[in-house]
Amino acid sequence: MNHVLIVEDERPIADLIAMTLRRAGYECSISDDGLMAADMLAEQKYDLILLDVMLPGIDGFALMEFILPLDIPVIFITAKGEVSDRIRGLHLGADDYITKPFDPSELLARVEAVLRRRNKLSEEFRVAGLTVNTRSRSVWRDGKEIPLTNKEYECLLLFARNRNAAIWRETIYERVWGSSWMGDSRTVDLHVQRLRRKCGWEDCLVSVRKVGYRLISQENESEV
Ligand code: CA
Repeated sequence: MNHVLIVEDERPIADLIAMTLRRAGYECSISDDGLMAADMLAEQKYDLILLDVMLPGIDGFALMEFILPLDIPVIFITAKGEVSDRIRGLHLGADDYITKPFDPSELLARVEAVLRRRNKLSEEFRVAGLTVNTRSRSVWRDGKEIPLTNKEYECLLLFARNRNAAIWRETIYERVWGSSWMGDSRTVDLHVQRLRRKCGWEDCLVSVRKVGYRLISQENESEV
């Protein structure tokens, strides 16, 4: 699984980023200090860095010079209105930037886009006892492949990327079927029931009253 280093000294922001990414199956480490981040980078391999500009120790721009030879993609976290910071970050070789405050889904989309562009997106992850390979679109349990239809697989991906969060039936329908919700929940319920049975998810893919469904999964299962 992809391992992301979050270098951000505002703890609530760092925690929000980590929560968002972990929920989507990423492994995260946090550093609130530029020098400490340099130490962490020397000791451990990361697939992507989310880098704040103003930091104790050394700032994000100085740290960037240390990161460049390591060939790890970087997304700068910049403050609203600081256009010069964004431009400087991109000039220094950053792959993208995100502006505080940001929407978690925008953060996820940018992280995924950068990893894909740099060909570092992990193709395999584990969720709730299964191994999912996104390249071959195959799902495995204990070395045996589970045959899923296209829609079942898309449902599984949606649950896996939003693990532990309640997902509305409407959202499932719109994301997986790609058309707007007409109020008929049977299609979604039918697919979720089949997915639950095929995957052995009777205990972890649970109904959420009046909302939809939630996949219960331990965070550390995402690490492959
Ligand atoms: Ca800061």
